[in-house]
Amino acid sequence: MRATVMYEAGDVRVENVPDPKIERPTDALVTITAACICGSDLWPYGKMPASDGPARMGHELIGVVQETGSEVATVKKGDLVVAPFAVSDGTCEFCREGLQTSCVNGLFWDSDKNAGCQAEAIRVPHADGTLVKLPVAVDSVLIPSMLTLSDVFGTGYHAAVVGGVRRGSKVTVIGDGAVGLLAVLSAKRLGAEQIVLMGRHTERTDLGREFGATDVVAERGEEGVERVRELSGGHGSHVVLEAVGNMPAYQQAVGVVRPGGVISRVGVPQYEEAPVGFGSLFGPNVRLAGGPAPVRAYIEELLPPVLDGSIEPGKVFDATTDLDGVPNGYQDMADRKTLKVLVKP
Ligand SMILES: [Zn+2]
Repeated sequence: MRATVMYEAGDVRVENVPDPKIERPTDALVTITAACICGSDLWPYGKMPASDGPARMGHELIGVVQETGSEVATVKKGDLVVAPFAVSDGTCEFCREGLQTSCVNGLFWDSDKNAGCQAEAIRVPHADGTLVKLPVAVDSVLIPSMLTLSDVFGTGYHAAVVGGVRRGSKVTVIGDGAVGLLAVLSAKRLGAEQIVLMGRHTERTDLGREFGATDVVAERGEEGVERVRELSGGHGSHVVLEAVGNMPAYQQAVGVVRPGGVISRVGVPQYEEAPVGFGSLFGPNVRLAGGPAPVRAYIEELLPPVLDGSIEPGKVFDATTDLDGVPNGYQDMADRKTLKVLVKP
């Protein structure tokens, strides 16, 4: 089969690789019908050393079950399914607590160099815990929105949930990528009264306004912090949803959060050390939340409003390609020419 392989920063190829097959009784074999390129794929695309490659790419998928192992009970051949960006068994103590990204038998697609969703097919371990059957046809117009349930929507929603967004909250979202925009949609869904979106790309922030942003701040750094504090009435936001992952974004979050507030991070941090002392978090009683979103925990909750059309998270996709177009898709996203690329293998 054909699959996307990254050799090093800037070098993405589509190549023939061995066909996946059932290896364990809990596996399912899935033919991928929709995948995508993630903003987080741009981190390795920007800086992966050749020593980390070659690595198969992609962690978001919708597909059709082709075959199941003897112990798989919840999906069968022919089912259309969505898979989160992390595999989970659905039964361990973390899965039962709704933290499937800490599953004791789990796996992140990104941590397996021999598996990736930007490909024609994939072996899904722990199919019962990982896959969710979708009640639509493979060519449904709802596919883009359903594909966001495998990562970006669930991730934005997780940021808002663990940040404690509730009715009346004042929220700032940092980052106008797909996760940031869907964090806006999520904050709106949870009843936030004010949602300030910090981003500089007008086409994206316009979609952010459509998703529920009440204000947009294009300024960065000190200027951006001042602007957000002004908009919030002087003291900053109750909850800051940080959807970028670099140090300037963290500093921005510390700058705009209100005393007693929460910084909720879902942008993959590109740093290990950050200010947490008296002048940053401790003095103002600010809490830090977030991490890899257990998107599997949110699929059943977020699927109905997608199915009835009351929300359209799939609007974050502004380009579609086949597998051959994936290398260019990476470059276009890196150049900010496109927001998020849908891949139809
Ligand atoms: Zn588990």
